[in-house]
This record gives sequence, structure tokens and C-alpha cells, in this order.
Amino acid sequence: MPLYDYRCLNCQQKVTVRLSYAEYDTAKPKCPLCGSDKLQRAIGRVRIAKSEDARMESLADPSNFGDVDENDPKSVAKFMRKMGSEMGEDLGPEFGEVVDRLESGESPESIEQSMPDLGGSAGPGAGLDDF
Ligand SMILES: [Zn+2]
Repeated sequence: MPLYDYRCLNCQQKVTVRLSYAEYDTAKPKCPLCGSDKLQRAIGRVRIAKSEDARMESLADPSNFGDVDENDPKSVAKFMRKMGSEMGEDLGPEFGEVVDRLESGESPESIEQSMPDLGGSAGPGAGLDDF
């Protein structure tokens, strides 16, 4: 049977209760320490935090993107495309333009010089500096 994390509102301890899936919805589990039934489920928040962490870890793990040759603009472009789709966000027309120019063999330095707007800390230009 699965284990569920609760916080006991009576003795303020974090406790683990063993319940079947059927019991989880209906049962009133009791604190194994003090016998109180004032238990608050702690599992939902923990799960969300963990999955978010795992996502960020997978983004930060370079092995997920294969071998990126930072001296090869086409390789960097491929990496940026994959990173963009992994983040699931619209990174804007500048991002697409940078990637296109990298793919055509232009160096990141030259692209940055011709696109002064990329100098901001949150823009794709900041990413280029990391390569
Ligand atoms: Zn208790």
C-alpha cells in the first residue's frame, strides 16, 4: 500500500500514514504519534515542487541536448532550438532570427553586434554569452 505524508495539527509532527488508494479519498487517518485525526495532507505541494525541480534539472543538464560545439554556430543553433521548444515558451522573433543566423553560419559575436537589443539580461543575448 502507498504511503502518504501528513502534518498532524495536534502534535505538529510530520507523519507518514499507510493507506490504500480507496481509503485515501474517504478514510480519516489518525496520527500514529498522538492518535489525533486532525491530519492535513502534505503530499500535493511536495509533488508539484519536485516535478518543477526535475524539469529545471533536465533543462540544466547538457547531456539532454547532445554534444554542443560552442565554436560551431550551427551546433549552437540546434541547441537553442531544442532549448526553446523544451521551455514551451514563445521566445520572440529575435530568438528565431538569432537561431536562423547561427544556422547560416554567422558567429554569435557578429549577431550580437548587429542586434543591440539583445544586450538585456533576460534576452537571448544573455544566453549567447554563456556559450
Ligand atoms: Zn499527532
